[in-house]
This record gives sequence, structure tokens and C-alpha cells, in this order.
Amino acid sequence: MAGSEAAWAAAKAGLTVVIHEMRPKVATFAHQTGKLAEMVCSNSFRSDDSEQNAVGLLHWEMRAAGSLTMEAADTHRLPAGGALAVDREPFSQYVTDKLRALPNVTVVEEEITALPGDGHWIFATGPLTSEALGAAIIAETGTERLAFYDAIAPIVYADSIDMDVAWMQSRYDKGETEEERKAYLNCPMTRDQYEAFIDALMGSDKAPFHEGEEAKYFDGCLPIEVMAERGRETLRHGPMKPVGLTNAHKPDEKAYAVVQLRRDNALGTLYNIVGFQTKMKYGSQTEVFRMIPGLENASFARLGGIHRNTFMNSPTLLDGEMRLKSKPHIRFAGQVTGVEGYVESAAMGLLAGRLAIAELSGKSLPPVPATTAMGALVSHITGGAEAKTFQPMNVNFGLFPPVDGLKGGRRGRKDRYKAYTDRAKADWQGWLGAA
Ligand SMILES: Cc1cc2nc3c(=O)[nH]c(=O)nc-3n(C[C@H](O)[C@H](O)[C@H](O)COP(=O)(O)OP(=O)(O)OC[C@H]3O[C@@H](n4cnc5c(N)ncnc54)[C@H](O)[C@@H]3O)c2cc1C
Repeated sequence: MAGSEAAWAAAKAGLTVVIHEMRPKVATFAHQTGKLAEMVCSNSFRSDDSEQNAVGLLHWEMRAAGSLTMEAADTHRLPAGGALAVDREPFSQYVTDKLRALPNVTVVEEEITALPGDGHWIFATGPLTSEALGAAIIAETGTERLAFYDAIAPIVYADSIDMDVAWMQSRYDKGETEEERKAYLNCPMTRDQYEAFIDALMGSDKAPFHEGEEAKYFDGCLPIEVMAERGRETLRHGPMKPVGLTNAHKPDEKAYAVVQLRRDNALGTLYNIVGFQTKMKYGSQTEVFRMIPGLENASFARLGGIHRNTFMNSPTLLDGEMRLKSKPHIRFAGQVTGVEGYVESAAMGLLAGRLAIAELSGKSLPPVPATTAMGALVSHITGGAEAKTFQPMNVNFGLFPPVDGLKGGRRGRKDRYKAYTDRAKADWQGWLGAA
């Protein structure tokens, strides 16, 4: 996805492009063909609503920038209500044919196993980056900076949390500054609420692993439902332990268990539920997590998951233009940079392509506005996200800087989203004009 889009942008600008694709010579467990831009699982690019949905807005921005992914998707669109679903075979054939037809594009079927010392490169090797290249990335960046599985805890929009129930406090008020002493958002549970929550967790529907994606759990990132299965008290002694916390609303009441949420982005608009990585199906997740006091009306920016997924710690490794800080002639793009999804991956490829074109033609571009879907995503992965707890992210309105003077919460949502998307469209067109 990302590689095709980057190649398209660069080739359309007149650059000579070589695509190195290891398939079909080297296979992955998920890909079935040797075609470019293969959709490995669902055939959906999700919502196409560019006024009320962040991924729909990303479609809009990509179309405005001449995206090949969007052109192929629109050509091979299938009926799917408000979603953009595509006929996967002709979709990837279209992308492959279009790229191969360009005289300045060559496709070489080979695996790249090292980070090259010179030239201009965009690495877009995805969640199933080959083992040899993974090892080369680790050799360059350190073991801790490349993950092979994600462990995603659900992320909640801050303004959907009931602060009459929840309160801000770090365990034992630890921290040098007031901000650190109040870094966590706490949701208290009584014994009855805890017992009901454990029952719901154990009774929930779980998503299976994809074939080839063996369940490799590591202590420290066990799915919450697996922890619950190990014993009804396990969570109360693990991520839900109530010690060192005093309910600011009811100081005399000792909570039986406490769910903690931690800020997930610099803007403070998103909070992740600490230690709640899960393989529960999405429907079960919203049902079960809304049983947590304070989260009854929670809106989720993303739900939890655990997948085979190679991704780097981009906030520490990449600069704002997606270049590897230690080897700036190499850019990274797509899922390997910690965005999540076909559309997000393709979008980051498009951006990497455009940034490379500008660099090679000696043009200095203004930064991509963080008010656009493209800018919000790239700002998140290259610095806005908390580096220590970095996990893959899909595009969502929580990544956007708030629009002043608009109502928060659920009631103002429609107007707020429209304001975000109007602002994004104007700013994206402005940036494209300057690019
Ligand atoms: C099993 C699975 C299911 C998924 N399902 C969905 C879904 O339903 N919807 C969704 O939106 N997202 C899904 N994703 C996540 C993600 O959006 C897709 O994987 C998406 O294709 C990522 O785009 P990309 O361009 O980053 O990587 P890819 O599309 O995977 O492209 C990377 C390419 O690099 C090649 N490559 C890897 N290593 C090398 C190397 N060393 N040398 C040369 N070539 C190499 C690969 O063969 C591949 O063609 C899924 C991911 C996985 C693993």
C-alpha cells in the first residue's frame, strides 16, 4: 500500500523509481499473490464520509493529492453503504498495471536485507517486514525500538469520560511535578462492579488469531481476558490494583479495584486504558469497557487488539519528515512506522513520496498542517505520541488540535467533526498548493 503510493507520487513527479518487492519469491503468511497493493484481509477502506469521519477525510485528502490507491478503489468500488469497499483482485491488478506501465518505474522482485548506505530510499515493508530486514533495522536502532507484535489497549476520547466519577492521580502521588502527580485518570469499582466486570470479561467473544499468527504472549502484555482466566483476583493485583489511590470525590470510600487511564498524546485528547490489551471482539469490548464507572458513555478512538505487526518506535527514530534520524537518506512509511490500516498506510506512503520529491528537487516545504488528517497522523507518529507506550494508531479526530469555541462531549460532536473536516480540507488544499 504505502510503497505503491510513494512510488506513484515520485514517478508522476518525473523521478526514476525502483520498487523492490520480495513477493512472490519470498512469501508472507498473509499475502496470496505477487501483486502490488494486495489487501491481506478485509476488502474495506472503511467510511467514505469526508465530513463526519476521520478516515473518510483521509480519503478526501488522498484524492485531492492524486492518490493511486483512491483511483483504484473508486474504479473497483463495491456497494457497501457509506463504506468504501473494493473488489480486491482487480484493485491490486489496477495498481500493479498502472505502476508497471510508467516508463520511469522498474519493479525488481527481490528482498532487501540491509539498510543501504547511500541513495534515496523509502522503506514501506509493512507489518510483515521480512526477518532479515527486521534484524537490520534492529542492528541500526536497538532491540527495544522494533516490535513484532502489537498489544493495543483501547483508547478513549478524554471528553467522553465522566469526571464526576473519575479523578486524576498517580499511584502514591508519585512524581516531581504536579502534572506527573496527576498523570493518571482513575475509575473506581466496588466489589459488585468488579465481580460483574470479571464475569463479562470471561463471557465475552474473543477474536481468533489469523492463520500463521501464533499466539505469542509475553508476560507484561497478556490480554486482559487471559489474566482474568488465570484467577478472579489476578486483575485486582495487576493493572486494576486499588493501592495508593484516594477517590477525590469520595475520599472515605476505598475502591475495591481501580481502572487507570494514561494520556496517549501530547494534545491530551486521548487516554489509553492501562494494561487492557485484549483479543475481545470489538462489539464485546465496547459493551464490557462501558461497565467501568466513569466510562459508561465513553467514545473509543480505537479499540484494543493484539496482532502480528512489525513496527518501529517512530516517535524516537524518525524526524518530522519521516526520515530515519541516524540515516536521513532513508524514509520509512506505512504500517512499519506505527500507523494502522490500509488507508493510513497508503496515506503515509503518499506523504513520504511527496516529501522525498521536495527534498530531491531542493524545495523546502512548509510542515504538513497538523489540522489535516495527513498532518495529524504524521505528527502523531513522529512526536505527538507517547514514545514509551507507542502502539500503532489509526486516524481519528482525537489526533486533531481542538477547534476553539466548540462544545465538547457527545452533543457537540456533529458540529465539531464538521469544523475539523472543513478546516482540514482548506488547510490541505493550501499545503498542496505550496508543495
Ligand atoms: C494479517 C493482517 C491482516 C490485516 N488486515 C487488515 C484489514 O483488514 N484492514 C486494514 O485496514 N488493515 C489490515 N492490516 C494492517 C495493514 O493495514 C495492512 O497490512 C497494510 O497492507 C499495510 O500496508 P503497508 O504498505 O504498510 O504494508 P504492505 O501492504 O504489507 O506492503 C509491504 C510490502 O513490503 C514487502 N516486503 C516486506 N519486507 C520486504 C523486504 N525485506 N524486501 C522487499 N520487500 C519486502 C511485502 O511483501 C509487502 O508487499 C492487516 C495486517 C495483517 C498483518
